[in-house]
Amino acid sequence: MPLKVIEGIRSLALEEDLTRFLQRLGGPTLIRLQGRDRSRRRAFCTLLHGNEPSGARALYAYLRSGETPAVDLDVIIASIPAALAPPMFSQRMLPGQRDLNRCFRPPFDDDQGKLAEAILRFLHDSKPECLIDLHNTSGSGPAFGVAIRCDADHRALTSLWTNDLIVTDLRLGALMEISELDVPTVTIECGGAQDETSLLIAREGMQRYFGSEQVLAAAGRDYGVNRFRNPIRMELKPGRRVHYGDAADPDAALTLPLDAARFNYGSVPAGERLAILGAAGLEALTAKDHLGRERLHDHFADINGRLSPKHPLKLFMVTTNPIIATTDCLFYFIDCANT
Ligand SMILES: [Zn+2]
Repeated sequence: MPLKVIEGIRSLALEEDLTRFLQRLGGPTLIRLQGRDRSRRRAFCTLLHGNEPSGARALYAYLRSGETPAVDLDVIIASIPAALAPPMFSQRMLPGQRDLNRCFRPPFDDDQGKLAEAILRFLHDSKPECLIDLHNTSGSGPAFGVAIRCDADHRALTSLWTNDLIVTDLRLGALMEISELDVPTVTIECGGAQDETSLLIAREGMQRYFGSEQVLAAAGRDYGVNRFRNPIRMELKPGRRVHYGDAADPDAALTLPLDAARFNYGSVPAGERLAILGAAGLEALTAKDHLGRERLHDHFADINGRLSPKHPLKLFMVTTNPIIATTDCLFYFIDCANT
């Protein structure tokens, strides 16, 4: 099985630092911990992306604390080889491999697919009461949850970390899409890898998730979670390039400011200058909704060569990493009127 299994905390060498710990594990690992209540179990996954360290750091601190979780706990630490590739925590996946969090659907025929399939099979067989998959956002930004459902259980799980939940009908092959068949699942984005608050947010939520008797919905409780439905992905058309800087790159399809991650906070008003468009203007971009309909011109205009929202928008996952911008997307957005 492509997932190494470690039974119990006593089998772990925790006296060293996180780097040594991950080096000892060596590859994708499942750690099975015994809880105070042995009749139930929860699952927790992190490091699907090797450049998102907050979950692994928070988990390592928890393991070192020696605390006993409320119920049995299965912890999956996935992309350890990508995380260890120097410089540490810089690579989302190893060169030539697929993005692991796009591999949770058939075909499962390459290494990443086999690992994804093993994780899904484990969740199916072990029947946890819930699953959290903890990530960092691609750029700096606040924490939020992502799920394909927003019933009370999903809101309760989200509320352990944050008050914002994105609910999406888009299917990309992410873990939460298929695990949901077996178990209520929420992906938590705990903020950017470089943000000082991310580790704190990851740790505090993890403490609640691991330590509380009850994490699913309690009858009659309102979790105060804001729901945002079906954000749209803003992408470059194939062969187009993004530039990050304060002066326009004439050859780039789009020039975003170096501090573009500030758009992740709050909302952006109509007419805000988000980016400088290249020679092709809006034609270099595409923004299809979850039904595959092009929505770019419904939400954005070219105002004097600047990419500008037509009405207030909430932006998520604005990245300043050109590789993620090109291979995944520039950002997600949602019309504030639809929240
Ligand atoms: Zn991620």
